Amino acid sequence: MPEILILGGTTEASALAQLLAARGLAATLSYAGRTQAPRAQPVPVRIGGFGGVEGLAAYLREHGVTHLVDATHPFAAQMSAHAVAAAQAAGVPLIALTRPAWQTQPGDAWTRVADVAGAVDALAGPARRVLLALGRMHVAAFAAQGQHHYVLRFVDTPDAPPPLPDHTLVVDRGPFTVEGDMALLQRHAIGLVVCKNAGGSGVQAKLIAARALGLPMIMIDRPDLPPRHEVHDPQAVLDWIAHAAAPSRLRGV
Ligand code: NAP
Repeated sequence: MPEILILGGTTEASALAQLLAARGLAATLSYAGRTQAPRAQPVPVRIGGFGGVEGLAAYLREHGVTHLVDATHPFAAQMSAHAVAAAQAAGVPLIALTRPAWQTQPGDAWTRVADVAGAVDALAGPARRVLLALGRMHVAAFAAQGQHHYVLRFVDTPDAPPPLPDHTLVVDRGPFTVEGDMALLQRHAIGLVVCKNAGGSGVQAKLIAARALGLPMIMIDRPDLPPRHEVHDPQAVLDWIAHAAAPSRLRGV
């Protein structure tokens, strides 16, 4: 019987967990533990880091994992790199369930930057009203451009106030709609949106809203990842599980 480990923290991971549970397949969903109250899941959940590549490889061996699915966020670069290395070390096949990156469309006014530091640099200049749609991990870096008024949207109330001199905090875990995001942008008189190229449809409302209002965006490109087998659809993961080779150690190699 397959024993599947899903590295999660995304809606794609939750969708895959649903699909696997509905098929009666044994799966565990792993969270980093960043979100205070993760959604209830139809499969067992484990929470917390593994302890690097060696820790994940040991987990795969100890728990008899036969298939590893990296369904982390496209910006969770460290976890994804660890998954490639640990899967190789433990001889467990790996697949990545990802969202295709967003592409510009007519009406978009994007400034593309390589990373968060690039976004901070691109904000040099006179004070503006900026929607920082990034999650709380990267907000502190924007203190270097403290002249702006920042509107921050987080999924949880942070333990400590964000370290930005002039900001408004909105706590909302979605789902987000184009109408709702247009209203947010207008209510706060936003002149510029900063976000990561997360891709997918779940959080693209802000893109469509910015386009509709003619607002410029600073778009942070995805980090580079090691080569790996990637699919964009949970059903493709099921097909892969049906056909992927069992781990070499189970074949006695
Ligand atoms: P990261 O920088 O790539 O990972 C940092 C460390 O967190 C990893 O080395 C690992 O610790 C642990 N970790 C990450 N994901 C894990 C998982 N699913 N299960 C167990 N441990 C995990 O990751 P991140 O950017 O901080 O993201 C953390 C989580 O938030 C991920 O689950 C990701 O899918 C989700 N998320 C991230 C973003 C984003 O923009 N980065 C957005 C939405 C959701 P060890 O080395 O100890 O194993």
